[in-house]
Amino acid sequence: MLPETEPFWQAAKRHELVFQQCRACGQRMHFPRLMCHQCLSKDVEWIPSAGRGTVYSYTIVHQAAHESFASEVPYVYAIIDLDEGIRMISNVVGVEPAAVTIDMPVKVMFDDVTPAISIPRFTPA
Ligand SMILES: [Zn+2]
Repeated sequence: MLPETEPFWQAAKRHELVFQQCRACGQRMHFPRLMCHQCLSKDVEWIPSAGRGTVYSYTIVHQAAHESFASEVPYVYAIIDLDEGIRMISNVVGVEPAAVTIDMPVKVMFDDVTPAISIPRFTPA
């Protein structure tokens, strides 16, 4: 785990979704970075997300990239536009993959894959 992503995963473990915002210029970011990609300031803070957004784009994965994912296919690999203005890659779950649509409203849920790791995924809102 990269050190700059640690607060993100610690929050996910608490079932909270967070993202970074630059204190210098206000730029919001995801994935986590060591510095603002807009103004290069290292003064970035963590902001809570309400966890709501829409599907910007998606694809349905039918071929597992690794045998450990074989039981997961088909699954939806999606780009989610959060209401706070950031874009996040995740999965849409809790719905038939064929029922997922562009602009579908979604909300975050947390998949506790191990006692230490919870992964944010999205379900229809
Ligand atoms: Zn900045």
